[in-house]
Amino acid sequence: MGNANETIFDKILAGAIPCHRVYEDDRVLAFLDVNPISFGHTLVIPKERAAYLHELSDESSAAIGRVLPRICRAVLQASGAKAYNLLQNNGSSAHQAVFHVHFHIIPRLADSGLGMEWTPTRLVPEIAAELLEKMRAALSALP
Ligand code: AMP
Repeated sequence: MGNANETIFDKILAGAIPCHRVYEDDRVLAFLDVNPISFGHTLVIPKERAAYLHELSDESSAAIGRVLPRICRAVLQASGAKAYNLLQNNGSSAHQAVFHVHFHIIPRLADSGLGMEWTPTRLVPEIAAELLEKMRAALSALP
């Protein structure tokens, strides 16, 4: 991890390559995915260059949080879908291909190309306690 080089999304932001723009404000751009896995597949990105969500500033995070549900509503209305997934990949082993933070809005329709394997296990209390201790320490150490 730790790779904030220029990506194709910077070129879109700079207007050097075109996109099908859905929404834009000072901090956020949304556009149609050029290889949609379902009808209406839309990407929402911060204008700030950050490869991974955990690297994003509070300002950009807040700006995305403010408009994401609104853009989801527009995608639902335009696609006619009643259900959708939000997908946000971080790291190549998490299937991230473009190293600029982006949220996929993926309407679930008959044509949906999204497959998901979900294999739940049981949370062990001792492991939960250990995790909580580490996470709370990490959170309290943050600015
Ligand atoms: P990810 O695997 O989460 O990094 O997904 C990157 C997404 O960006 C893929 O769904 C691509 O189809 C999409 N994508 C790549 N280049 C473009 C582009 N020029 N315009 C729109 N979408 C793009």
